[in-house]
Amino acid sequence: MRNRTLVLLLCAAPALLAQTTREMNDLNWMEFRELVPARIRTVLLPAGTVEAHGVINNGADNTAPLALARAMAPKLDALVAPLIPYGVTGSLDGYAGTFQISASAYRAFVADVLAGLARNGFENIIVVNGHGGPQTAILNELAEKIGRERRVRVLVTNWWAICSDVTLKVFGEDGGHAGWNETAFIQAIDGKLVQQARYDRKLETPRPVAGTWYAFPFPAPVILYQAGQGSVRFDQKKAEEYFGAVVEKMTALAKETIEKWDRAKLFQDGPSGGGPRR
Ligand SMILES: [Zn+2]
Repeated sequence: MRNRTLVLLLCAAPALLAQTTREMNDLNWMEFRELVPARIRTVLLPAGTVEAHGVINNGADNTAPLALARAMAPKLDALVAPLIPYGVTGSLDGYAGTFQISASAYRAFVADVLAGLARNGFENIIVVNGHGGPQTAILNELAEKIGRERRVRVLVTNWWAICSDVTLKVFGEDGGHAGWNETAFIQAIDGKLVQQARYDRKLETPRPVAGTWYAFPFPAPVILYQAGQGSVRFDQKKAEEYFGAVVEKMTALAKETIEKWDRAKLFQDGPSGGGPRR
């Protein structure tokens, strides 16, 4: 056991020195082989979509989870997998530049991505989702399916929902799709993606209570979770405070989940006693 640990340490040492990135996109196969699973057990998979978001970029649901994953990665000693940029958009796909991937195509594609991450030796897959609705339901379903089939641990996270208390604390009110909270999150990442001068308060609407009404295309790209709350204001200081607090809460959730998986010794019975699942 001691010898094996020493060998692992020696093998990992050059990788430690050479590792300059946590992006899977930017590692070569030799670096990757040295890191996973010997030194790194966890991967963050950002998933988003392209859809209208008020006066922030159509790719806000990609910008947000990618920045979040990058901020979380060093704290979790994780790698960041390439982003899945197209998703199951829904009723906002009547807006220019918006994309809609069918649920069946999305399900099949993401299933293979998750299986590929498991095959490459990751023990923990943290999906950092940037877009809700049916996409979340599909990701949850795949976490269970691929987790069971590959004996890999999968956590699906929806940052805006996990951090609704952070939204209340920072802004003093609830948020919305492209509402103050999401706009602030993007503002903290890159202010150039926020076009304040174009903001039109008449293009906000409260989210309809289920079963009351539905419209296609949806009549406003800013959808407030609660009437009278989350209307967009532009405050750089609050934006930065929000980003930091979201990173902290998301990191804590991922850390606690991994600690519990470890404590319960779940899926640690791979071919080499907790090694890669191939
Ligand atoms: Zn969004």
